[in-house]
Amino acid sequence: MTTVQNARPHEADAGATPMMESRDVRVVFRTGIGAARNEVVACDDVNLQLNRGEIVSLVGESGSGKSTLARAMNLLQQVDSGEIRLDGQPVVTRGRGKVKPLQYYKDVQMIFQDPFGSLNGLKPVSHIIGRALKLHGLAGTRAEVRERTLEVLERVHLSPAKEYIDRYPTALSGGQMQRIAIARALAVEPKVILADEPTSMLDVSIRLGVLNLLSELRDKQGVSILYITHDIASARYLADRMAVMYKGRLVEVGATEQVISEPRHEYTRTLIGAAPDPSRRKKKRRT
Ligand code: ADP
Ligand code: MG
Repeated sequence: MTTVQNARPHEADAGATPMMESRDVRVVFRTGIGAARNEVVACDDVNLQLNRGEIVSLVGESGSGKSTLARAMNLLQQVDSGEIRLDGQPVVTRGRGKVKPLQYYKDVQMIFQDPFGSLNGLKPVSHIIGRALKLHGLAGTRAEVRERTLEVLERVHLSPAKEYIDRYPTALSGGQMQRIAIARALAVEPKVILADEPTSMLDVSIRLGVLNLLSELRDKQGVSILYITHDIASARYLADRMAVMYKGRLVEVGATEQVISEPRHEYTRTLIGAAPDPSRRKKKRRT
């Protein structure tokens, strides 16, 4: 049974209802036909819990199944078996055509790697954020929509917000765009943010700002965040707990410092060994 090789769900929180969790989530991609048929088990019965107001990092090499898990959690990916729970309630189970509740799409927001790909570049910031507000009935009149949009732009430190609200994405930098994506997510007051490599396409110099913004959302608003990355140094900087994914399985989950100082799985040791030393990196950046 494959579950034996998965890390056990977080023991310290046994009893408390997680804000969000994947239970035995399995996703298999089948490609090709005939002799070229191939099966990839992208998520192999994955159990991951995200507690209230915590940041969990999901680390692992490219192709280990991180994005597939996040997409399954965001209902963008059909699961072969298992379920996703939000605040203790099962959201999606096996079976196609299940109705996807609007409430879920309000509570669970996703931030992608490429802000230019995930935002409509032809519409101004006011439209991008205003649309999310209207969809979820969070602001009625035009004045209300504008006011809330300005407020949320300030919250992601695009300040003064008046200078950003009527701009088009093409006139913004990658870092500013990612802040817009975060603002759009925040506008609907989510309980969970799933951030899939949110800084990997940004210049190194602005990555820290985005990471700090995520930690502020946890601290001030109690949002639960899944932070997906292959950069172990940023995971260490940001996350309360660390989950390590390898070949579709969650091989290790624990408090960040504990996983780093006492990795239990061989793959985690390799990952930590291959990571650049943060102090060495800082020095390099200054020169
Ligand atoms: P990660 O985000 O960790 O890089 P992914 O979740 O993107 O990993 O991919 C996990 C595995 O599933 C990889 O082997 C990838 O090639 C495969 N995969 C992902 N999406 C698809 C798809 N739509 N069709 C076929 N295979 C896929
Ligand atoms: Mg990915």
